Order: sequence, then structure tokens, then C-alpha cells
Amino acid sequence: RAKRDGGGVARRFDPVLFAAAEQRRVAEADLMRGLEAGEFEVHYQPIVDLTNGGMTVGVEALVRWRHPKKGLVPPALFLELAEQLGQVPRLGGWVLEEACRQAMDWQVQFPGFELNVNLSASQLGNPKLIDEVREVLVRTGLPPQDLVLELTESVALTDLVESARVLSALKELGVRIALDDFGTGFSSLSHLSTLPVDVVKIDRSFVQAMPETGGASVAEAVMHIARTFNLSPVAEGVEDAGQAERLKELACGRAQGYHFARPMPALGVTELLDKQSAEVL
Ligand code: C2E
Ligand code: MG
Ligand code: MG
Ligand code: MG
Repeated sequence: RAKRDGGGVARRFDPVLFAAAEQRRVAEADLMRGLEAGEFEVHYQPIVDLTNGGMTVGVEALVRWRHPKKGLVPPALFLELAEQLGQVPRLGGWVLEEACRQAMDWQVQFPGFELNVNLSASQLGNPKLIDEVREVLVRTGLPPQDLVLELTESVALTDLVESARVLSALKELGVRIALDDFGTGFSSLSHLSTLPVDVVKIDRSFVQAMPETGGASVAEAVMHIARTFNLSPVAEGVEDAGQAERLKELACGRAQGYHFARPMPALGVTELLDKQSAEVL
């Protein structure tokens, strides 16, 4: 039998712990290999204008891992590990450039077509971020006002003073800032007036909790807050026509969700835009 020390920790070889550590080493090596091999792709989810018949006016870039054995892997399954390995600034930099290039393609057909890109905490904390964004805009030619950088409240609020400084510097480049998953963090509302934010993305949990008819909802309250601070609301996770209708009644200009379109490879967006311009003509 294994002897236990005073802390009650088993000191014998633990096959379960060993297996977990081994699994982690394998996962790390696999991720580093995937990054080296360039196995990552950017997919795009359309953002529609509810006031204009649901026309696609932009997209959100969402990273995926095209794994040779596992198929398409969603970010929830690798971003945290990539973060721990210090690889997110590099991966995120690639996503930004790839997405800006792609957006320029769509801008030929639709000038002003918007691109949203997510930023993680480690990217915001990277002193090279501002130069990097500036250089990507120059290299790709994307007009800065058509780029929206999304960050979650938790990212923005770990160091409020520093975040405000970095966000202001980004805004001086002409890009816009969105608070993602708005309402799910622990932020106090007063931070909205401290941080230079332009857009709030209403978290899908609030969109999905909207009552079928009448009644107040958090989504509606967030829309009021957005208007008070002169921010544009975008509803996330719209999954049915009823939700879309109610958001329209609440004068929410923009929305995104499976009801309109799922994230898709760039080609899918190009086809969607071709169809859209055929309808407009
Ligand atoms: P997010 O930025 O809030 O992105 C929205 C997520 O909701 C996406 O998940 C999207 O596929 C999903 N979604 C969209 N519409 C619906 C809907 O109607 N119903 C439901 N249930 N879900 C919907 P995805 O692509 O798995 O991304 C998850 C998160 O990973 C993102 O949340 C974002 O925080 C992060 N992420 C994705 N790409 C990047 C990236 O390039 N860089 C960084 N830093 N983070 C990223
Ligand atoms: Mg986002
Ligand atoms: Mg979100
Ligand atoms: Mg989210």
C-alpha cells in the first residue's frame, strides 16, 4: 500500500496523473506541429443589418484548426492551450492579416464591408500589437474604419488603465473597438465610459433568454445602455425568426447567429455576396 504523508497526498506513482501529464505533452506537441504546418483556417460568420432586410454587411473572423486526423477543431478546444504555450499573439496576428486580405476581396464588390476580429488578453498585453495592426492595415489596404477589434470584458478589465491606453492607441489608427459577450463579465457599467468602445455585442445567452412576447429582458436593457453611451449594439447568437423579429422591434441594428448563417469558409461568404448583389440589381 502507498504511504501517505501528513498532507494526505499519495506519494506512489499515480497512473492517472501520469496519463494526464502524458496526454498534455502529446496535445502540446500536436498543437506546435499544427502551427508549424500551417493547419489553421479562418472561417467567417455573416453579420446582418436588421433594418435593411437582413443584408450581410460584414463578417466576424473565427479561427479553426484543420487537423489531419480530427477534422475541423473549434477554438474552444485549442485556444487555451495555445494561450498557455504563448502562441496566441502569433496565431492571432496571422488571423488578423489573413482576414484583412480576405475582407479586401469582398470590399471590391461591397465597399465598406466590415471585418470583426477577436483579440485575446495576451494580444492586448503585447506591446507590439499597435504597430502590428498598423502594419497589417498598410500591407492589406483595408480601410481602418472597416475593421472592428473585439475583446471580451474580462480581457479589457484586468488592467483598466492599461487597457484604456492600448485601446486609445488602436482607435487612433482609425479602427473600432467592440466589447464581446457583453454583460457576462464582472465589469461595472461605469467602465463603459472609461474605455473607448464603439460597439457592444450582446451575449447570446441574453438573446436566447428574450421572452416570446412582451416582458422586459436583459437584451433590451443592454440595448438601452448601449444607446445611453452612444454605442452600436450587435446581437449575437440569433437562432430563430422570433428572436430576429423582437430585436428588430427593439431597434437593434445588427445581428449575427445561426438563424442567418453559420461561420463558413471564405468561399461561402463570396457566394453569399454574389447572390446578394444579384438580388440588389
Ligand atoms: P465569440 O467571439 O463570442 O464568437 C461567437 C461564437 O458563437 C462563435 O463560436 C460562433 O460560431 C458562435 N455562434 C454564432 N452564432 C451562434 C448561434 O446562433 N448559436 C450558438 N450557440 N453559437 C453561435 P466559435 O467560432 O467556436 O468561437 C468561440 C470563441 O473563440 C469566440 O467567441 C472567441 O472568443 C474565440 N475566438 C474565435 N476565433 C478567435 C481568434 O481568431 N482569436 C481569438 N483571440 N479568439 C477567437
Ligand atoms: Mg467575437
Ligand atoms: Mg461573442
Ligand atoms: Mg463568446
